[in-house]
Amino acid sequence: MIDLRSDTVTRPSQAMLASMAAAEVGDDVWGDDPTVLRLQAAVAERAGKEAGLFFPSGTQSNLAALMAHCGRGDEYIVGQSAHTYRNEGGGAAVLGSIQPQPITNATDGSLPLDEIAAAIKPIDDHFARTRLLALENTIGGKVLPAGYVAEAVALANSRGLVTHLDGARVCNAAVASGQSIAALCAPFDSVSICFSKGLGAPVGSVLVGSADLIESARRWRKMLGGGMRQSGVLAAACLYALEHNVDRLAEDHENAEYLARGLADIDEVEVQSHATNMVFARFPQEHCAALEASLKEQGILTQMLYASRFVTHMDLTREDIDTFVSAVKSYFAE
Ligand SMILES: *Cc1c(COP(=O)(O)O)cnc(C)c1O
Repeated sequence: MIDLRSDTVTRPSQAMLASMAAAEVGDDVWGDDPTVLRLQAAVAERAGKEAGLFFPSGTQSNLAALMAHCGRGDEYIVGQSAHTYRNEGGGAAVLGSIQPQPITNATDGSLPLDEIAAAIKPIDDHFARTRLLALENTIGGKVLPAGYVAEAVALANSRGLVTHLDGARVCNAAVASGQSIAALCAPFDSVSICFSKGLGAPVGSVLVGSADLIESARRWRKMLGGGMRQSGVLAAACLYALEHNVDRLAEDHENAEYLARGLADIDEVEVQSHATNMVFARFPQEHCAALEASLKEQGILTQMLYASRFVTHMDLTREDIDTFVSAVKSYFAE
C-alpha cells in the first residue's frame, strides 16, 4: 500500500524493532524504567529544557501540559485550526475545566498579535482568567516565522501569560528552517513533541519543560490514564527515532516538493501550498469520491476531500510518488 493520508502510518523498521526488543525495562509508574528515563533526559537535552515526560500520545501530552499550567476557570488562547483546540475532542474544556479562547489563524499559521492582545481579559470577576498562549509548529506543514514566535511570546509574557508549543512536528520545523530544536523550543515554557509522526516510532510523545512543570504534569498523566509500566519498550523506539530519523526528514520535505510539482502538472488539480512534508491541493468536487476509490483499488490510500492533504514520510519513496501522480493523471485522462 502507498499511504499518503498521514505521517502517522509509518511502521517500525527492523532496526527500530531490534532496539525495542533489546530495551532494558523497569516499571515507569515507580519511576524506574531506565529506557524511559534515558529518553526523557535525551529529549529534554535536545529541546534545551530541564526535564521531560513520556506520554502514550500527543493529545495526552498537550492536555497534561495545559492542566499543569492552568487551573479550573482559567483560559488559554489558541488557534481555530490548532490541533489542541480542533482535534483533541475539546479535552482542555471537558477534562481540564480550561476555557479555550480561539483566534483565527492567519494563512501562515500565526495568530495576529493585535488579536492576541485583544483576547487577553482584564482581571475582573466577569471573565475567565487568561493564563496561557498555545502555538503550534509546524502548523499545516508550515514553519512559524521565528521573528513572529519571539514577538508573540514576548507579548504573552508581558501580560503575565505562560506559553505552550504543540511541537508535534517541531523536528520537521528544525530540519526545514535550519534552526536547532532547542532554538525553536527556547521561547516556550513547555513543548510537546511527537515521535509517532515523521520520526517513525509506533507510539509516543515527550513533554518538556521545567522540573516543576513536569512534576505537576506527571500527576495529571497518571490521572488521565497515561502512567505506563514497562514502557521502555516504547521509549526505545522513540530513542531510536531521535538518534536516526531526525535528519532524514529533509528527504520527506524534498519528496513533498516533488509530489507538489507532479500534481501541479495536472490541469484538473490546483496545488494550493506545500511545506515541510505536506502538500495541499484541490480537485473538482464531483471527482473526489470516484478518484479516491480508483486510487484505493490501485493500492493508494488518500483522503480525497475538496481540499486534500498529502503527507510524505519514511515509508514513502519517490517511485511511490510517481505511481500516485501517474494514477491521478490517468484518472483525468480517461
Ligand atoms: C498528531 C498531532 C498531535 C497529537 O496527536 P496524537 O495522535 O494524540 O499523538 C498533536 N498536535 C499535532 C499538530 C499533531 O499533528
